Amino acid sequence: MIAEIKDLSKLCVHTLTTKPWNIEECVKNYAAAGIKGITIWRNVLENRNLAEVKKLLNEFEMEVVSLARGGFFPSVDPKKRQTAIDDNLFAIEQAAAVGAPSIVLVCGADGGQSLDKSRDQIADGILKILPSAQSAGVKLSIEPLHPMYARDRSAINTIRQANDLAEAINSAWVGVAVDVYHLWWDPDLRKEIHRCAAHNNLFAFHVCDWNVPTMDFLNDRGLMGDGCINVPEIRSWVEEAGFRGYNEVEIFSDKYWATDQKAYLERIKEAYLTKT
Ligand code: ZN
Repeated sequence: MIAEIKDLSKLCVHTLTTKPWNIEECVKNYAAAGIKGITIWRNVLENRNLAEVKKLLNEFEMEVVSLARGGFFPSVDPKKRQTAIDDNLFAIEQAAAVGAPSIVLVCGADGGQSLDKSRDQIADGILKILPSAQSAGVKLSIEPLHPMYARDRSAINTIRQANDLAEAINSAWVGVAVDVYHLWWDPDLRKEIHRCAAHNNLFAFHVCDWNVPTMDFLNDRGLMGDGCINVPEIRSWVEEAGFRGYNEVEIFSDKYWATDQKAYLERIKEAYLTKT
């Protein structure tokens, strides 16, 4: 039995979903549309006064679900690995400043070295930033990415790998973000979602759809119902496992970004209520 979504109370929208909007436009338009949750991508915080952003979020009663994104730890160049650590420490400061309880980690990969080497550097990077995350009260969500990104965006490509890593680190501050776009194809998905929740590591749930055919492997995500992912079924798995957090709509789409964003937000709400 898949429970229907009754209202918008668990809807969160990623600011990158409405990429043409700045942070003020996102906050005001989401709030006006009855959306309570926001995941803030760092591009909209560039050169901004974070105390003012926090005030704006409070004023419109938006709950910050997460900051996106940290990670990108691996590199063959030790200097670049240090730059990544520094950037992640800055992300933790930003998250704390805007009231984000967690950061999504796109873990990274470097095609100049093996996936195993990149995975070791990911674990090392997370361990290096963990004390700062913990003292700032910011959780770190490892997001496994579809294997098509294994060379350059993440060497963590299955939920099993993310579970293994989170369990090896064994901290209340490190868990996993489940994104249907990256994981829908995995025959072990349901089992691994349950394993993830059983270890208290199920931190976040991201939704969109997989277009058939997909025209661009980064910026052609679909709105729920556009493609081939059974989003309600996967949502039922995270819920049966005990997840009660927000359903985060994260859609990178050149097609939708070119349309009127207010009308698009209404389509997102419709797809959320009927196809998620
Ligand atoms: Zn995601």
